[in-house]
Amino acid sequence: MTSPEPDDFSTYARETVAIAAGRPPRIPGGPVNTPVAFSSTFHAGSDVGYARTSVSNWEAFEETLGLLEGGYCLSFASGLAGVSAVLELVPIGGVVVVPDAAYSGTLARLDSLQETNRLTVRRVNAAETDAIARACEGANLVIVESPTNPMMEICDLRALATQTRANGALLVCDNTFATPLLQRPLALGADVVLHSATKFISGHSDLLMGALVVADHELRDRLHRIRSLTGGVAGPMESFLALRGLRTLALRIRKSQSNAMELATRLTSHPAVARVRYPGLPDDPGHDLAATQMDGFGGILAIEPAGDPASIEALCGRTRLWVHATSLGGIESMLERRRRWEDEPATVPEELIRLTVGCEDVEDLWTDLSAALDTLLESAALPAGTLHESPTRTSRSPLLRE
Ligand SMILES: *Cc1c(COP(=O)(O)O)cnc(C)c1O
Repeated sequence: MTSPEPDDFSTYARETVAIAAGRPPRIPGGPVNTPVAFSSTFHAGSDVGYARTSVSNWEAFEETLGLLEGGYCLSFASGLAGVSAVLELVPIGGVVVVPDAAYSGTLARLDSLQETNRLTVRRVNAAETDAIARACEGANLVIVESPTNPMMEICDLRALATQTRANGALLVCDNTFATPLLQRPLALGADVVLHSATKFISGHSDLLMGALVVADHELRDRLHRIRSLTGGVAGPMESFLALRGLRTLALRIRKSQSNAMELATRLTSHPAVARVRYPGLPDDPGHDLAATQMDGFGGILAIEPAGDPASIEALCGRTRLWVHATSLGGIESMLERRRRWEDEPATVPEELIRLTVGCEDVEDLWTDLSAALDTLLESAALPAGTLHESPTRTSRSPLLRE
């Protein structure tokens, strides 16, 4: 005897779907989670044959993320494996439009394909919808991020979807920063949603995985074939862990986002910070547009401290709670100066620090971050009395007692 199954998932909120979807049938004594199948091959007599084509743990993950994004999901070994798969859709000599400041790996991959004449790249400013629209003419594929990594610019996804469709191009939206809880690009008209599931989706900085989600089943079949033949597939353990992380996405995003909003607001009045980039701030250039296409502003922000790159780099190494490391979307807060990487585009300011805000106590985060920023003021030897005193700094933090 089996228990009743959940209703049609379309009747549930996305937070519920993240928890309830992708489960095995409710059979008495059966497992509540899909067991990890460590097997490269499967007994003959079924559609499942070999683990480069299909694995049960992918299916549980793909069903859940697909329902959240509103399309068919295909998982990949990493976000960049997803990028590479989607670029296989571009004919030889085709044209790809991309923001001039976006995830450095995507840009570097495109450059390497351009160097071998595989395709031509047009770089445009992500926030200039008209410029992107002009660049769409004759293009085969447009890849955007919104918000962009790490500049936090917002693209007008509805307008771009109209433009790309009119030009017969495909619109790919990298939804890594927003996640399907805050933004659903397919509903806004995008053809493909891309994820680095390494980030918020899995959420614990412990694995690499990627995903593509499409609404059109022919496109799904083409990408499925590309994945089977290029082989950038996720392992069963990663798929299991990514789905386990996805279960708590709503809780993590809510906390991370409220922490980010609070920190962004406080950072705007920190004397060592020249600029804060966060679409949740009412005077951010992307704020109004973000409010029309997102259900929240997310857990990532960028700051440009006033100072030379070396001192800014040094301040990143001075935090005790914030982790000085690359990557984002984990439960732990991290920061880094993006231009420390050679591949980071020169359109990103040397001073820019990307902050990925985790789920720690916001006062602990502020105490640690503002103290590290204060050292910039000290090293600039400002006159006494100009040091910023935060009204919210607490003395109870063990970080300060040390
Ligand atoms: C990290 C990242 C990627 C690449 O994903 P990997 O899982 O590291 O391969 C792509 N897009 C964005 C926006 C990212 O932050």
